[in-house]
Amino acid sequence: MRVTILPPWWRSKWFYALCVVAVLLLGLVVDRLRAQQLRERSRELEGMVRERTVELEKRRLELEERTQELEASREQLRIQAIQDGLTGLLNHVAILRAFAAEMERARRESRTLVLAMVDLDNFKGVNDVYGHLAGDEALRFFAKAVNAAIRTYDHAGRYGGEEFLLVLGEVPAADAQRRLSLLHALTSNIEVAVGEAKFIITCSIGAVVYNPTQGIESMESLLTTADQALYFAKESGRNRVVVRQAHRLETRQENFPKD
Ligand code: GH3
Ligand code: MG
Ligand code: MG
Repeated sequence: MRVTILPPWWRSKWFYALCVVAVLLLGLVVDRLRAQQLRERSRELEGMVRERTVELEKRRLELEERTQELEASREQLRIQAIQDGLTGLLNHVAILRAFAAEMERARRESRTLVLAMVDLDNFKGVNDVYGHLAGDEALRFFAKAVNAAIRTYDHAGRYGGEEFLLVLGEVPAADAQRRLSLLHALTSNIEVAVGEAKFIITCSIGAVVYNPTQGIESMESLLTTADQALYFAKESGRNRVVVRQAHRLETRQENFPKD
């Protein structure tokens, strides 16, 4: 009689096969889980990077805005430092600086330079009759006329009170008188309208033509000559131009009819 002893079920082939399949399935599940974990972590990191990028971009924009504000206020300060608050023309220091630079350039390039000192006529009377605020407005009207009359490379500044300095570069000596006459025509007899009041303001100009090829002059001496020419213009009846040559002391005078 043959007796066959069967192995217990855990030693059977089908059980081994099942174990192999189970191990394979377990490995697969573990692998899937790990891949899922990695994907989640990567998504999390991507999210963090996105958040950081957005935050950084926000900061960059804020910084850019701040820089622009700083630049604008620096520009504002720069303008305030050189500009006359009432008229918007160059202030006393800035016009003298421009004058110094243009003198240097005239010398370097052997070009003629014209310095004109302009003073509003009987301006005290304007304040007395129409008030100080109307006087201020008249100064603004005058500054506007000056700005429209000069070329972009000329300089105009408020020397003080109702007195102005104009520095005109690149004016041929032979053309200086005509140029100054035109300048006077454009900046004198200006009609000012303030509220109900309407009045005319005129100006006198004392100018000096400086030709560096005929000798070197200092800023002070040119200012003095222009001032003397202005004094002469006032003494001769106001509302006119008096031009002097820096070296020849030759005086010419022009009269303009008053409206
Ligand atoms: P002249 O023709 O001889 O120059 O006579 P003027 O009256 O213009 O000269 P004066 O020096 O006697 O008077 C200058 C006047 O300018 C007096 C002053 O109050 C006025 N003035 C100076 N600066 C300003 C300003 O910023 N605003 C106003 N409204 N008036 C000013
Ligand atoms: Mg005056
Ligand atoms: Mg004056």
